[in-house]
Amino acid sequence: MFIAFGASIQGFLTGCRPYVGLDGAHLKGKFKGIIVSAITLDGDNSMFPVAYGVVESEYAESWKWFLVALKEAIDCPNGLVLSSDRQKGLDKALLAVYPTAEHRECMRHLYSNFKKRFRGDILKKHLWGAARGYTSSAFQYHMERVEMADSRVVDYLRENHGHVWSRSLFGIDAKCEQETNNISETFNSWISKERNRPVIDMMDAIRQKIMIMMNKRRRDGAKWSTKLVPGATKHINNLTKDLENYKVLRCSDEQVEIEWPNSRCDVRLDERTCTCRTWQVSRLPCVHAIAFIAKMKLNAEDYASSYFTVERYRDAYSLNIKPLPAQEEWKKSDIDVVVLTIMQELGKNTVPVAGSSQQSRSNIRRKNSGSQQQEHDFEHAAAARSQQQKGKKKKRNSGSQQRELAQDVAAGAVQQQKGNTASSRKKRRKISGSQQRELDSQVAAETSQQNAAILYSQQGSTIFSIDANRLLG
Ligand SMILES: [Zn+2]
Repeated sequence: MFIAFGASIQGFLTGCRPYVGLDGAHLKGKFKGIIVSAITLDGDNSMFPVAYGVVESEYAESWKWFLVALKEAIDCPNGLVLSSDRQKGLDKALLAVYPTAEHRECMRHLYSNFKKRFRGDILKKHLWGAARGYTSSAFQYHMERVEMADSRVVDYLRENHGHVWSRSLFGIDAKCEQETNNISETFNSWISKERNRPVIDMMDAIRQKIMIMMNKRRRDGAKWSTKLVPGATKHINNLTKDLENYKVLRCSDEQVEIEWPNSRCDVRLDERTCTCRTWQVSRLPCVHAIAFIAKMKLNAEDYASSYFTVERYRDAYSLNIKPLPAQEEWKKSDIDVVVLTIMQELGKNTVPVAGSSQQSRSNIRRKNSGSQQQEHDFEHAAAARSQQQKGKKKKRNSGSQQRELAQDVAAGAVQQQKGNTASSRKKRRKISGSQQRELDSQVAAETSQQNAAILYSQQGSTIFSIDANRLLG
């Protein structure tokens, strides 16, 4: 079963950074299964659930299924980072479904494995130093000391931890310096009580929690009168307090050398860069940039990414999740199956039948505000162009070809189901074409033991999904 609300998808795409933590946690009740989740951070660094689902295990096939559904909901935004503890099967699934995204490994998880084989304060200090260093020189400095302490470590890391785990290798588009996947842990603890409940009840209770949380954050955001969210404002204020040690040596109006007792940096205002690389990765000005900005009597808030603005925060929570009636009143859906669980050869035919989200995503993109677009243009002109070209290609493919592929997948799935007739196949094709319109007007759930499914739809939104069948028993 996979759930992603329209409010969450839109909030993620318009208000949050392209960063997603993936994790799984065991259900605690009599039902077997794992709740898997895709969680991001809002501009104020609070947990923002994008999607969640239940699978029978953490095998590669289950993760692939979840990731394919996630991709259908959010696509692959420019600079997407997927962070995980590298659970069983997830690595393989990530490569199949999101081959071009940045795959980060949670450093806390890496270190807890590492210390089973290697111990010592020097190793701990410098391994974490290597993870937290933003530049390749900082990474090398610490890794040389790690290697001096134990020469086996480098080979061990190469063989066992091939994902990105050092900030020195983090891309600069996600604007997120998180080196752990703590945000997923936060979500798992947040739903700890709900994990004791039967599957459908649990999914519904989580929906209620997200509904309430989004409303609270929407109200918080409406009260803020600053340009940036509180966390970013505090960050800038803290850095501004103690600048006397930083000498600003001007090279031009846009470029300076910042010198302090132990080192120096080259800061460029026009490019929003500092050689310490913190500004590029986090997109909040580093202390060196702040020293320059203060010297120029400019406003540091203007040099933070729009992701940290209150406006963008409000975008993240602009839609709400609607109340659902009691389960007895849920309509039975005439959509008997949605195909996501049955797709074979993932990575080859990965177009789920529910093609409607493609449309909601493009609507969401059109809703992007002017300031976001400006920043996008500023920071990623080249990336935006390539994205546009991809978009055009996609558009060309998205007509009959896309529908055909979706139908092929649907038909393939149907063939695998005992008792399905040609007429039901025909019906399914018809459904896949007009699915969104039907879903928009209803909240439906089929709860028979044979095919326990729940389908939510909310105002112009979403989709979802299915087949709790595999989890029962
Ligand atoms: Zn700097």
